[in-house]
Amino acid sequence: MCGIAGVFEAEGATGLVASILFAIQHRGQESCGAAARDAGGRIVGHKGMGLVKQVLDEEVQNRLAGTTAIGHVRYPTAGCSDVVNAQPHLIELAEGPVMAISSNGDLINYGEIRTRLEREGVVFKSDNDAELIGRLIAMYHVRDGLTIESAIAQVQVELKGAFSTVLMYRDRLYAFRDPHGFRPFVMGHLNHEGEGEPPSEGTVFSSESCGFGIIGARLLREVRPGEILRLERGQPLLSVGHAPLEPRHCVFELIYFSRPDSSHFGENVYQTRQRIGACMAAKDETIHNGDDLVVMPVPDSSNFIAHGYAKAKGAEFGMGLLRNHYVGRTFIKPTQASRDEGVKQKFNPLPDFFPGKRVVLIDDSIVRGTSLRKLVRMVRSAGAREIHVRIGSPKVIGPCFYGIDTPTREELIANRMSEAEICAYLGADSLRWLEVADFEGLLPGRRQDFCTACFDLDYIYPPEGFATKTNAPSLREFQPAL
Ligand code: AMP
Repeated sequence: MCGIAGVFEAEGATGLVASILFAIQHRGQESCGAAARDAGGRIVGHKGMGLVKQVLDEEVQNRLAGTTAIGHVRYPTAGCSDVVNAQPHLIELAEGPVMAISSNGDLINYGEIRTRLEREGVVFKSDNDAELIGRLIAMYHVRDGLTIESAIAQVQVELKGAFSTVLMYRDRLYAFRDPHGFRPFVMGHLNHEGEGEPPSEGTVFSSESCGFGIIGARLLREVRPGEILRLERGQPLLSVGHAPLEPRHCVFELIYFSRPDSSHFGENVYQTRQRIGACMAAKDETIHNGDDLVVMPVPDSSNFIAHGYAKAKGAEFGMGLLRNHYVGRTFIKPTQASRDEGVKQKFNPLPDFFPGKRVVLIDDSIVRGTSLRKLVRMVRSAGAREIHVRIGSPKVIGPCFYGIDTPTREELIANRMSEAEICAYLGADSLRWLEVADFEGLLPGRRQDFCTACFDLDYIYPPEGFATKTNAPSLREFQPAL
């Protein structure tokens, strides 16, 4: 999980990129960076560990002066937390100019392609997918004499997995996406009001459309799966590339990861979340409305799911838990003790809110069960009479190989315990998940366009030897180890 941004031919491009990245900071807080083309045509970059406001400050924005720029925010994963893995990557070509590249998504065949390139003498500076994509394009361009667009097209066929990518080369900017469209990727324009494709100048790119409001840009459309866009000064936007393959948009982006004010995959994220809540409420015959009922999200990720649920039930929507916004993600902390501590730092109950209440506590997902176990206890000791946990996604039973950071199958609580055991472990009065079958109604006529592999093991590119939907052993293969 990462975020990318690109700006083509606009004054103060690095500042605009920094603003987009700030708006999509939720996609990555470990490190960030930007690269810009200066007046002399040189591509220069800066990256560092930390948040956008710290790393891409005014001094850096002034230093990276130029009218075209790209940037990246990186998601923290346990281990390999090093500035060499921060992006953009600058790649020097034998012919002289430098190429800069930033990408979001994970590749399944990274190892295989890296080994191949290393045998050809290519030297890597990081173990990052974006660098691999850049070096592969550079090789086809320099060694085989392909144009950059043909090199990208060749690479798009070879890479298996997710990539939403921006690439600067000479005075051009390229934006391209994997043929399945796993990760979101949108295009906007700073000045264009009318219909149709605008001129290249003033075109902007972001992982999510919430990045456009902050710079006053208008959302034009998504970069299409398989598409390669070439932007060149004085030229109309050129769209080449491949016919899309079967779409595999990540459904978890809609459920949890993306910001609710973004729109992609043909959906408004907040509306999908509200529909999920309404769908769960409709199936929840055991919960009856009453003065003592309150529907409450785990803020902020579940706000819209809870809102949809409460509205469908005609019940009170209550923000009984407050979230400290200065606490980072607890999810990726390396040890269980630090994850537990993080949850306590992050949430606090309102005083005198819970006594006597029946609470429907809504969260977007259960992965290891860390947060909810703590939260249920917190709500119970704050006085709640009943706590009914509702989860806005199906059980997470498989890792993601396309860019969402998920623990191994063994760590996922749904693989280690039965429903009743999980409910008891959380200390809840009842527990229900969304079901995979519910996606049919939630994404009418488009269910097949979404990747739901973490919920049903239906991986389009399972790594070799990995148990999939068709050959998975039973969920009870892993012994409870808590
Ligand atoms: P857990 O406490 O391990 O059950 O994690 C579940 C919580 O972490 C959910 O409430 C989500 O908001 C959040 N979450 C789920 N998946 C991820 C992820 N891949 N990265 C970061 N946070 C996540």
